[in-house]
Amino acid sequence: MSLHYPVVTRFAPTPSGELHVGHVLAAWRARHMADVHGGRCVLRIEDIDTERTRDPRWLAGIYEDLEWLGIQFDGEVMVQSHRMGVYAEALEKLRELGLLYPCFCSRAEIRAEWESMTRAPHAGEYMRYSGHCRDLPAECVSELLEKGVPHAWRINMRRVEDLIGCPLWEDLRLGVRRCVPSACEDAVLARKDTPTSYHLAVVVDDSAQQVNLVTRGADLLEFTPLHRALQAVLGLPTPLYAHHLLLRDASGRRLAKRDRACSVRFCREQGMSPQQLLASLQRAVEHGGVWTA
Ligand code: GLU
Ligand code: ZN
Repeated sequence: MSLHYPVVTRFAPTPSGELHVGHVLAAWRARHMADVHGGRCVLRIEDIDTERTRDPRWLAGIYEDLEWLGIQFDGEVMVQSHRMGVYAEALEKLRELGLLYPCFCSRAEIRAEWESMTRAPHAGEYMRYSGHCRDLPAECVSELLEKGVPHAWRINMRRVEDLIGCPLWEDLRLGVRRCVPSACEDAVLARKDTPTSYHLAVVVDDSAQQVNLVTRGADLLEFTPLHRALQAVLGLPTPLYAHHLLLRDASGRRLAKRDRACSVRFCREQGMSPQQLLASLQRAVEHGGVWTA
């Protein structure tokens, strides 16, 4: 696997709050990697979660902050909330392949099952789904569906593995990795009111935008095997990945998105210039991700 030219990278923020320095690092890396290779960097607004992204000021703020920073993007902006039909088609394809099953578990039930099996998840760790509804008897499933019991659609990763085996993917820094689908969680790909999820939309859109180098934070590394598997079952090309380090504070803690002191707006209000902010990120990258304004 190697870089494909022209290189296309992307920045894909979720407008669920103010743009923070972690976003800026991601945007700057995407732009920089595209520039280094004479390529393009596209922008995508990941707003499928209408509840989290309901305040239009957040999206307006992202555009304003990016302009202030002087980070520009190529071509048209892709907005996920305008593309629900495209995701529904991809979901249908997975359904036709027999890869989806309804999960009737509530969050509380998943948590209770976790607690009885092992322990509650630590902060930052998420509750992996056990696969409780994967093998429910067909008559039981039809009955629950007929009754209109709320459910989400999960992907059966064991079946995915039967279909595609264990494909490879590559991270520029970490090297070649093997995706073992059955080791991935049976992730939720759709809910009643939303015919998609982050995971489904991200692979469909990286392909639609012809992104061939995905630069993003290492917090998403754990999901890349799932994304690789989805690309394989949907017949989509696989980009190269370049996961970058996450910003931390002086005590080593990951910067919290909610911490106002890390927002671009706050840095602006403190009189920082765009150059100073970008220089502080450059310093952070040189110091293992420790960011101080
Ligand atoms: N929308 C995600 C975020 O704002 C980024 C997703 C990605 O880069 O794959 O954290
Ligand atoms: Zn379930």
